[in-house]
Amino acid sequence: MRIAVLALQGAFLEHEMLLNKLGVDCFEVRQLKDWQQEKDGLIIPGGESTTQGKLLRELGLLDPIREAIEGGLPVFGTCAGLILLSQKVEGNSPAAPEPPRIGTMSMTAARNAYGRQLGSFHTEASFKGIEGNIPMTFIRAPYIAHASEDVEILATVDGRSVAARQNNQLVTSFHPELDMDTRVHEYFLKIVKAR
Ligand code: GLN
Repeated sequence: MRIAVLALQGAFLEHEMLLNKLGVDCFEVRQLKDWQQEKDGLIIPGGESTTQGKLLRELGLLDPIREAIEGGLPVFGTCAGLILLSQKVEGNSPAAPEPPRIGTMSMTAARNAYGRQLGSFHTEASFKGIEGNIPMTFIRAPYIAHASEDVEILATVDGRSVAARQNNQLVTSFHPELDMDTRVHEYFLKIVKAR
């Protein structure tokens, strides 16, 4: 099994370290020729969705990635990755304009929804399909404001949806790669294996 990790900006290294810990092979995607390698899944890290979206478009990666996901490639997006996978985004601002998007998940992300400063916090909550509570680190996090029936909500914090799955696509508002807990990544790897 080999996982592609989008490495244009943001917390990609932490995902790679976590995959290494699980003994899973991965490689970084920085340009189109990296993307053309064989892969079984894709991780889109947290960071700044406007920057990542612009780079994806400029590097010619946006359409090939969208087509691969539409073709069934498993994808896991954390935080900015959740925004990039959402069909719609609300809460854009002049400082953080609407990012170009992959837009393959039928849902609306509310961006910077917890406010600029207050958006960073740590909690624990249950996650459907995983036993026990999961540590959740939020950093200027989005949440899922609306989702179609095809989207299964997997976790909520304070009544807000913070993790979801739509077939081959998994997203979290929080950053599982920043905690030592590997269970959300293992959940994603199960989707990859089942394909
Ligand atoms: N607020 C960021 C954005 O809009 C996401 C924050 C994150 O990925 N930690 O892209």
